[in-house]
Amino acid sequence: MTNKFIALTYEACRICGKKMNESICIHRRFFDISEYDSQITGLSQTPCNECKEKYKMNEYNVLVVVDKEKTTDLNNPYLTGEVIMIKKECELGKTMKFKNGLAYTFNAGEVYNFCNKVGKEYENVEYKPKQ
Ligand SMILES: [Zn+2]
Repeated sequence: MTNKFIALTYEACRICGKKMNESICIHRRFFDISEYDSQITGLSQTPCNECKEKYKMNEYNVLVVVDKEKTTDLNNPYLTGEVIMIKKECELGKTMKFKNGLAYTFNAGEVYNFCNKVGKEYENVEYKPKQ
């Protein structure tokens, strides 16, 4: 590409990390930004359509599991690939805070065990291991 002041950039899905929300960046002073071409520049506010469908996000909120040791910046979390789906309408789902149907957790086992203990909430929670 000869126009080095133009780059095609992407955001990453907050659940699967896949590229989405393609956008064209143009440096207003025409500096070389070719190193950003085809790169992910941040996380999307909402998950990709595939994840929305896969995790039935019209019905469930999603807790995305993050590796605490490998994450140095919460704006760039290291995803383990595990996900916990929590039905929006259950007590647990109402008490937890989600943004755009999403929240992060460092410990999937702890959350899942808690849900198990609560007992009646069990049917409202689904654990999805890394695929
Ligand atoms: Zn996704």
